[in-house]
Amino acid sequence: MTATTHWTLARRAERMNPSVIREILKVTEKPGIISFAGGLPSPQTFPVSAFAEACAEVLENDGRAALQYAASEGHAQLREWVARQLPWKVDPAQVLITTGSQQGLDLVAKVLIDTGSRVLVETPTYLGALQAFTPMEPRFVGVASDAEGIDVDDLRRQAPGARFLYALPNFQNPTGRTMSEARRAALVQAAAEAGLPIVEDNPYGDLWFDAPPPAPLTARNPDGGLYLGSFSKILAPGLRLGFLVAPAALYPKLLQAKQAADLHSPSFNQRLVSAVLKDGFLERHVPTIRALYASQCRAMLAALEREMAGLGVQWNAPDGGMFLWARLPEGMDATALLPHAVERGVAFVPGAPFFTDAPDTRSLRLSFVTATVEQIDRGIAALAQTVREHLPT
Ligand code: PMP
Repeated sequence: MTATTHWTLARRAERMNPSVIREILKVTEKPGIISFAGGLPSPQTFPVSAFAEACAEVLENDGRAALQYAASEGHAQLREWVARQLPWKVDPAQVLITTGSQQGLDLVAKVLIDTGSRVLVETPTYLGALQAFTPMEPRFVGVASDAEGIDVDDLRRQAPGARFLYALPNFQNPTGRTMSEARRAALVQAAAEAGLPIVEDNPYGDLWFDAPPPAPLTARNPDGGLYLGSFSKILAPGLRLGFLVAPAALYPKLLQAKQAADLHSPSFNQRLVSAVLKDGFLERHVPTIRALYASQCRAMLAALEREMAGLGVQWNAPDGGMFLWARLPEGMDATALLPHAVERGVAFVPGAPFFTDAPDTRSLRLSFVTATVEQIDRGIAALAQTVREHLPT
C-alpha cells in the first residue's frame, strides 16, 4: 500500500498538554530520591482490611448487581450518604457520583465552557482543573489571591461576563492555604450580587489538623454553587470515586455529559464504598489520617525552621491537607533549582505551572504526607543545602 493515512487532530487535542507535574514526577520517582513532589495520599492510610471485608460482603449479598451496568446518577445508597453528610440541605437527587472528582471537573468543562468563555481561577490553582478545562478552550482569568484566599475586590472587577469561578477554599492544592470565614462570606455575597456561579472543589476539607475549616461556599448559597467532593483522600484514590452536587437546573446536563463519558462510575466500587461507610466508619478512620498528616506537617515545619535558617526562604503553615507552599529568595527560580535538588536526592514541584499568567517562579509545592519523618528531615536538609549552593551572589 502506498497512500499514507492523515490523522488530523481536533483543535482541542492540539491544546492538550501532558501534565507538567506528571513529567516532573517521572524524573523524581527514581529510587533513592526523597520526593515531596507527588500529590499522592499516604498508602499507609488506605483501609485495606475494611475493603477486604466489604468486598466479600458485596459479592455475597449483591454480587450480580455489583457486576452489572447501573444508573448514570450513581448507587442510590451512596448518593443518600453523600447528601446526608454535607452540612447544608441536599436532596440525593442533586448528587451525581463521578469517576473521581477529576471527572466532575471534566463534566463541568463540557457543560459550562464555550470557546473563549471567561473562567475565573485562583492564583495559583489546581493544575488538574486547568487541564480538564483547557480542551473546551476557555480564557482563564487569574483572580488575585493572598494568604486568606481570593481577593474579593478583584473578583468583583473580573466577574462580569465570566462563566464561573473555580475555587478551592480548604487546604488548597497547591498552596495549602484555607480561605477565612470573613473572606468566604464576602466572596459568596460578591458572587451572588454579580450572578457569578461558583464551582467549589473540596477534596481536602476533612483533613484538618486542629479544627474543621469554615463552612463550604456552596452551603451559603446552594443555588449559586456546584460542589465537588472525593473519596480519594479519605478512603483511597484507586477507587476513582467522587461526587458532584449540582443545582436542579444544571443536573440534567451534567448527567447527560456523564452518560456520554462513561455511562456510570463502577458499580462494584460504589457498592464497596457504601459497605465500608456504614456504621460510621469514617468517624473512626479519618481522625487517624488527620493525626498522621498533622505530625508529618509539624515535622516538615520544624525541619524548615532548622535547616533554612538565614537562607531567606519563606513558607506557610497549613491548617490541614497535604501540601505547603514555599518561596525561594529573590533571584532564584524553582524550576531551575529542581535538577540540582534531584542530584542531591530530593524533589519538589516548582510552582510556575499552577499559574495561568505571570507565574511566581520562586514558588514551590512540598507534599508532607508520603515521606516518613526521617525522610522529611533528610530531604529538607538536602533542599536547604541545594538552596545554599545556588544563592545568588
Ligand atoms: N481537585 C483537587 C484540588 C485535587 O488536588 C485532586 C487530586 N489531586 C482532584 C480534584 C482530583 O481528585 P480525584 O479525581 O482523585 O477525586
